[in-house]
Amino acid sequence: SGQFGQPIGQLANASGQLQSGVASAGRIFELLRADEQRPEPADPVRLGRVRGRIEFRDVSFRYVPERRLIENLSLVVEPGSTVAVVGPTGAGKSTLGNLLMRFYDVDGGRILLDGTDITEMTREDLRSCTGMVPQDAWVFAGTIADNIAYGREGATREDVVDAARATGLDPFIRTLPGGYDTILDEDASGISAGERQLITLARAFLADPVLLLLDEATSLVDTRTEQLVQRGMAALRAGRTTFVIAHRLSTIRHADAIVVMRDGRIAEQGGHDELIRSGGAYANLVRSQNPHPAGRSAMAGSAASA
Ligand code: ADP
Repeated sequence: SGQFGQPIGQLANASGQLQSGVASAGRIFELLRADEQRPEPADPVRLGRVRGRIEFRDVSFRYVPERRLIENLSLVVEPGSTVAVVGPTGAGKSTLGNLLMRFYDVDGGRILLDGTDITEMTREDLRSCTGMVPQDAWVFAGTIADNIAYGREGATREDVVDAARATGLDPFIRTLPGGYDTILDEDASGISAGERQLITLARAFLADPVLLLLDEATSLVDTRTEQLVQRGMAALRAGRTTFVIAHRLSTIRHADAIVVMRDGRIAEQGGHDELIRSGGAYANLVRSQNPHPAGRSAMAGSAASA
């Protein structure tokens, strides 16, 4: 992408593997360095049209030999459905995404995409059908339009506006004197964290990935933007297989399945009503949220270990 200067040009090349390029810059470099040490399959399975069925089959993984983390984890996510992953900090929620994207490889078991082991495809193919929206939304110096257009090569202004409309960003952009041509600096200091995340949602929408990895922010500044982000995420999720590391009860309630993780294991798995009825960890979590029935407080904090 010649339109970007250094070091964004570099980053654009490096992150070409992450279709929507929304992971933070430092993180991308860190992870791509890890990639260089692992060979690609000699005769990779080429991905045709991806449906987006994900299966973790008896997966085990540890970052370091002396500390066990994921042990014999099994999980099926049907195409187009949303799984809300909840649990306390350190439970292994992000690790599921790291394994799915092959930033790390499993030590035991398999991860399958549409029935094919993900180690049989190239990491580029795998990642090019995935959009990642991390908490620390990544923007680069340039216009808002550039920042959205980054999601898809050759995107027109019309594509950009469509994506912004779909994800609820457009009304905000229209309040800015420069509109879509408003220039952001590298820290996007002129806009809020929530607005930054809206930009990455629009960017991911434009990329149109089959799989989505969302990391819901634990706290955004104001309720209004928070609602916009929630709605934007809902629009983005529609029809895509989604893993969302969820902190808000409203997000979790609307998921097709909830996975409650603790100490690298799935402590509980099921739908909201089912888990409430069974009266386990999830029911306790929700009960601990009762002062905030609208679901605004954090699910992943200390309350989750109750
Ligand atoms: P969560 O997303 O639920 O907060 P993580 O999946 O990030 O949990 O982390 C699970 C455990 O693995 C934590 O104890 C964390 O410190 C550890 N961990 C995460 N990333 C790494 C890494 N790159 N190297 C070593 N340990 C890690």
